[in-house]
Amino acid sequence: MLIDPCELSPSYVRSIAPYQPGKPISELAREMGLDEAGIVKLASNENPRGIGPRTRAAIEAAIGAVARYPDGNGFELKRALSARYGVDASSIVLGNGSNDVLELVALAFLGPGRAAVLSEHAFAVYPLATQARGARAIVVPAKNYGHDLETMAKAIDDETYVAWIANPNNPTGTLARPDEIEAFLRRVPERVIAVLDEAYNEYLTPELRADSAKWIRRHPNLVITRTFSKAYGLAGLRVGFALAHASVADVMNRVRQPFNVNSVALAAARAALDDMEFVARSYAENLQGLKQLEEGARRLGLDFIPSHGNFLTLRVGKAAEIYKRLLRRSVIVRPVGGYGLPEHLRVTVGTPQENDKFLAALAASLKE
Ligand SMILES: *Cc1c(COP(=O)(O)O)cnc(C)c1O
Repeated sequence: MLIDPCELSPSYVRSIAPYQPGKPISELAREMGLDEAGIVKLASNENPRGIGPRTRAAIEAAIGAVARYPDGNGFELKRALSARYGVDASSIVLGNGSNDVLELVALAFLGPGRAAVLSEHAFAVYPLATQARGARAIVVPAKNYGHDLETMAKAIDDETYVAWIANPNNPTGTLARPDEIEAFLRRVPERVIAVLDEAYNEYLTPELRADSAKWIRRHPNLVITRTFSKAYGLAGLRVGFALAHASVADVMNRVRQPFNVNSVALAAARAALDDMEFVARSYAENLQGLKQLEEGARRLGLDFIPSHGNFLTLRVGKAAEIYKRLLRRSVIVRPVGGYGLPEHLRVTVGTPQENDKFLAALAASLKE
């Protein structure tokens, strides 16, 4: 072979550093000869409680119809979301996880010669989706680990068409208050699509939860993204959505796959919206679990970044080494060196027992 086929792809694609997911339980068991049942995975901000009862019933019922293509317009799910958020169905874009919806923004609004602004330590999908379109990423230094919205607004240049904001941010757990987001939206030129990624919204205390959907009327360039992967417990089924002005939603819908959300996921998400008790319990138990992890970190003399999500990012020093020591103790967490945080590890809030197991393994790993 005279040429390496890899060389045929555009240089901006070839230079993409792949996303590093949390290590699956089965992989760790295989690699280290460990018992799967004894492994605690706190690496991907999943819901340790699983799913609610209505959601489970809906999944079981949906299996009977998997030989059919799904409803490509997701009518029932959109109708429920429309009622929940007070927006028209034409303002909703469904995705194979909210990751899909984020990529639809990049596909619809970015390309070579264009740029997107994002924060240092921001969710990894933003630079990935930007680069995959041949667009330039303008990375703004973080302020106290969070988004510096004022500097981000100033960094917008003539080529900028997208601003990515995670609120709360992953992996830092930092949050911008509703008034700060509104001030940012007022400063952003109309030409720039402002993506407000609210993947952890259900874990926010009520006073910090913004009624962001109502901002779309005033700011037609706003795209809000939400997911069923976190508090709703549907990470494995992949379903998320965007709320946006109808014309923005329209252009995003044009670039998606016709059947981008599968039928089981559609049915599960529809039912999950009614599992209110499950989400309320997830919220309350998460606050308890965060406290448990924070107290544990204090006892170990470790700094952490105060979090508004279902995870805590701790400063452990030699994080890559501590990560490996934790793996040997059957605990999977997430190294965040790729996010410019080489001394930190991110741990998802688990059940009280999982949190205890992590804290004990961490204490032992720090002493080793
Ligand atoms: C987990 C997460 C997502 C959601 O991912 P899905 O594709 O919906 O599973 C989106 N944004 C942030 C910041 C996240 O942490």
